[in-house]
Amino acid sequence: MTQQAECEDCARALAGLWLGYRAGCTSCAARAIARSPTMFDAAASRAPAAITALREACTRALPTLPLEQARAEVMRWWRHDKGAPATALKRDTGTP
Ligand SMILES: [Zn+2]
Repeated sequence: MTQQAECEDCARALAGLWLGYRAGCTSCAARAIARSPTMFDAAASRAPAAITALREACTRALPTLPLEQARAEVMRWWRHDKGAPATALKRDTGTP
């Protein structure tokens, strides 16, 4: 399934590593959550408190979407970023 970009920043993020966000774009808000420490904690620990914090972040940042739709959009970006090349982030660190 091909993802549709909701704005220019989302289009660039779909095409490669892009860190721009646009106010008022639901997909940008979901992408911000997907890249947040809250998401990292929930994915890494799967602890109930971390999952609850992620749900609360979805509710706050994506108030116009039902929770399950908001979570699905966040997970869409999470999966997208995990498959994206991260060489730009790893460059010049001196570690593998
Ligand atoms: Zn966007």
